[in-house]
Amino acid sequence: MNKRPGFPIQLSQTGAAGPPSKSKPSVPARSGLNPGVVLARAASSVSGVGLDSDAVRARMVQKLAEQGVKDPRVLEAMGLVERHCFVESALVNQAYEDTSLPIGLGQTISKPNVVARMVELLCQDATGKLGRVLEIGTGCGYQAAVLSHVATEVYSIERLRGLHEKARANLRPFRLHNVHLIFGDGMLGYPKGAPYAGIISAAGGDAVPQAWLDQLAVGGRVIAPTITSAGHQALVVILKTSLGFERQVLEAVHFVPLKSGVA
Ligand code: SAH
Repeated sequence: MNKRPGFPIQLSQTGAAGPPSKSKPSVPARSGLNPGVVLARAASSVSGVGLDSDAVRARMVQKLAEQGVKDPRVLEAMGLVERHCFVESALVNQAYEDTSLPIGLGQTISKPNVVARMVELLCQDATGKLGRVLEIGTGCGYQAAVLSHVATEVYSIERLRGLHEKARANLRPFRLHNVHLIFGDGMLGYPKGAPYAGIISAAGGDAVPQAWLDQLAVGGRVIAPTITSAGHQALVVILKTSLGFERQVLEAVHFVPLKSGVA
């Protein structure tokens, strides 16, 4: 049998009623924990003593750092957000593995590695916190929670009402007052929060919608999976400068499709 970290079992043994995925968040929304502490915790937990979700998550953060994620703000945010609170209870024991997971209605939560990579791309060049950020595709709300620790305000838009509501329920216990969930078509952006310091899409389209470019602040970036001229989906980064737009095509990725309209 596949050997898994013991934390979900441990969580239910701590007397939490009901499925562990819906247990109350145990980490304060903003603990100010520095990544050094997160990594130190990861190292100390390898002994196997006290395997709780903090330790399992700290190991995930350590793995992200080994995989090349460098930005301490991103590592800290990944260490703070309890990913197991955003997935179905049956999948809780996979919550900290580097895998995408189904979140219902045919959609998926991205791998931690992909979330960290994209948030790192969004934060590059920013000193301290990013300003207002727009996320297209709230899904289960996990990435919005990560973004809430690196940006002053997060506007996150979802086109599927069922997921918009699920994200609202998932995020409620974390009391992240800088996260604003919107039900609507993200292809139109969200003009009320513009201009944005960054726009990040969790769904891949054929092109980056003009609305996103219009709603970006000078110096801000769009990070979006997009079909390239080679015909496959890749991460595209577009920087808005005072002279125009600079576009970079990075590695191939596999995201759910960006669709127009709401459902
Ligand atoms: N960031 C999410 C990942 C969700 S998957 C998380 O952490 O869980 C991508 C999401 O994008 C899906 O929920 C899908 O419904 C949504 N989506 C696709 N096209 C969209 C659009 N035009 N506007 C808003 N959301 C969209």
